[in-house]
Amino acid sequence: MPDDGADTGQHKSTTVAFARLDETARDELAKVLPGSIKSELEKGAVLCRDDRTQQIFPTPLRTGEAKHSVDVGLREPNCGCPSGSTPLAYYHTHPSPPGEVAGSDGLMHVAEGFSDEDLDVSDQFGVVGYVGQRDGTMLAYVPKVEVVSGEGYRAVVQPTDAEGRALKIARGEIKRFNWKLPTGR
Ligand SMILES: [Zn+2]
Repeated sequence: MPDDGADTGQHKSTTVAFARLDETARDELAKVLPGSIKSELEKGAVLCRDDRTQQIFPTPLRTGEAKHSVDVGLREPNCGCPSGSTPLAYYHTHPSPPGEVAGSDGLMHVAEGFSDEDLDVSDQFGVVGYVGQRDGTMLAYVPKVEVVSGEGYRAVVQPTDAEGRALKIARGEIKRFNWKLPTGR
């Protein structure tokens, strides 16, 4: 029997799963980015995978109340995903131009790409981060952490050295997609 790709093996199936996640994030960001740019308020949600059907779906969309931040609900039980599903990623928009802007708590610096806080959130919860920006560019951040999860349980494994001392979590990788999201302009 010729190799029909049915036996995908670990590496390939991981890649396929990532492509599906990337595309879901792209589709969700495409829906919300134009409105987010218009209002200059960040929008985002968590992407969950149904444990039985493997279908990927978003939690209800959240809109930031102050400029330059949105709480997508990762601090809630199971990162906001319903029971019987697993949190895989979160996505949000960056509708404002880079530069210094007056935030609710003073002057904030808005840079292009992920903020340190965005990356920390991915590391802390062990989920891929996606951002859709004002110019239609889309980035992903894949944290380098190991997650242990079970029924009602989810934790990022704290790396330690040979003596059991906690090590700083190393940053993962940022990738840039070669597609453009709609911006409404
Ligand atoms: Zn951000």
